[in-house]
Amino acid sequence: MAIDQPPLASMTVEQWEGLCQRCGRCCYGKVDYNDQIYLTAVPCEFLDLHSRQCTIYEQRCSMKKECVPLSPEVIALGVLPEGCPYRALVPSASAPRSWRELPPGLRRQLGLAP
Ligand code: SF4
Ligand code: SF4
Repeated sequence: MAIDQPPLASMTVEQWEGLCQRCGRCCYGKVDYNDQIYLTAVPCEFLDLHSRQCTIYEQRCSMKKECVPLSPEVIALGVLPEGCPYRALVPSASAPRSWRELPPGLRRQLGLAP
């Protein structure tokens, strides 16, 4: 956590939202395999690949059921990539592995590149 960053419990919505670098890296499909999250190269259909922005941000939770708002509990699941500022709020959170580390058979089954 940055030195000038307020404690999690006292953060305003603006401070919380302001941590996001709008990189879009968390908006790619994920696979939960053996209690480990794997990040795929398949972008959410609502991610603008040019701007890296969500095209339905205000309605995202109702329009895409897999899209859940970030919270310490969600961060602790290990869904956020290395370098995402939110990960510093939950130091115990792991980072997703690459889908390339999944077993080849499972990659084929999921329609990911072999
Ligand atoms: S990976 Fe982190 S910084 Fe990037 S868009 Fe997702 S929440 Fe924001
Ligand atoms: S709906 Fe959710 S996962 Fe999809 S682009 Fe928007 S914020 Fe990302």
